[in-house]
Amino acid sequence: MSNLIDPHAKPLPSLSARHIDPHSYPDGVAFLDGQYLSMSQAKISVLDWGFLHSDATYDTVHVWDGRFFRLDLHLDRFFGGLEKLHMTIPFDRDGVAEILHNCVALSGHRAAYVEMLCTRGASPTFSRDPRDAVNRFMAFAVPFGSVANAEQLQRGLHVAISDKVRIPPASVDPTIKNYQWLDLVRGLYDAYDRGAETALLLDFNGNVAEGPGFNVFCVDDGKLSTPAVGVLPGITRRTVFDLCAEAGLAVAAADVSVAALRQSDEVFIASTAGGIMPVTMIDGVPVADRKVGAITRRLMAIYWQKHEDPAWCSPVRHP
Ligand code: PLP
Repeated sequence: MSNLIDPHAKPLPSLSARHIDPHSYPDGVAFLDGQYLSMSQAKISVLDWGFLHSDATYDTVHVWDGRFFRLDLHLDRFFGGLEKLHMTIPFDRDGVAEILHNCVALSGHRAAYVEMLCTRGASPTFSRDPRDAVNRFMAFAVPFGSVANAEQLQRGLHVAISDKVRIPPASVDPTIKNYQWLDLVRGLYDAYDRGAETALLLDFNGNVAEGPGFNVFCVDDGKLSTPAVGVLPGITRRTVFDLCAEAGLAVAAADVSVAALRQSDEVFIASTAGGIMPVTMIDGVPVADRKVGAITRRLMAIYWQKHEDPAWCSPVRHP
């Protein structure tokens, strides 16, 4: 099935005349109900289960210097989540990709944070049976955002380890990218209370899991490890594995204890929202000598180099 919207056929008047409220919404373009809209116009029903029950899945890919980075992997994960949640959308992979390209092209952003999502939707009869709901696909492109700001990228993030346990995989399958974020948000408040900038949550066994919007890696004796279970299989995490394979670095998915993390030579986090970002303080204690480590720096450099490599990215198509 192809994309139901033909951007050539549609004049997109709402875009040229779009109303941007700079105080409420970032400048961007959304796709909703067959139309391309400004972010302030993109609204959903309060009856949508995506809102009422967090019954939704999504994926976020970024565009850097006019190119999508590893879009295919994000589409794979998104369509995998739809299938696991028994959701259907009226677009296939090419249709979704076309909508994402259009959102970015119409937004004019060269560096963008691009989200595709599907909510359960609402049941026309307000029935409690999820099979009665009409699933809703949406997408949007807004300016690129990062977990770490420029200063934090330079000197490393300060994180706190929260005592909140990341929701276990037996409850919510973390391979389905989801908005189950209350644990992560509570962890963030713990971190702020303790003077840190972001949080790491533990898994149900007390090992390190992940943080609000990122996976975590530690480096010990030149070898990298990242939590194996109870975490979203991040595309940036996967990219770190791919970069390590190219660079001849050893990397493993394994349990990471809190003690091991604290004693690491280097720690970094990984997310589409910022890439590879160093961590130099944990609970107010420096990681090693508190400097961004050599392996972290090397991976950060090659991660961004890959954003110019046609094998890893695809230019935004303009309708
Ligand atoms: N873990 C969680 C809970 C996330 O929400 C995200 C991204 O939003 C990540 C990890 C990192 O995943 P990715 O590298 O695909 O952005």
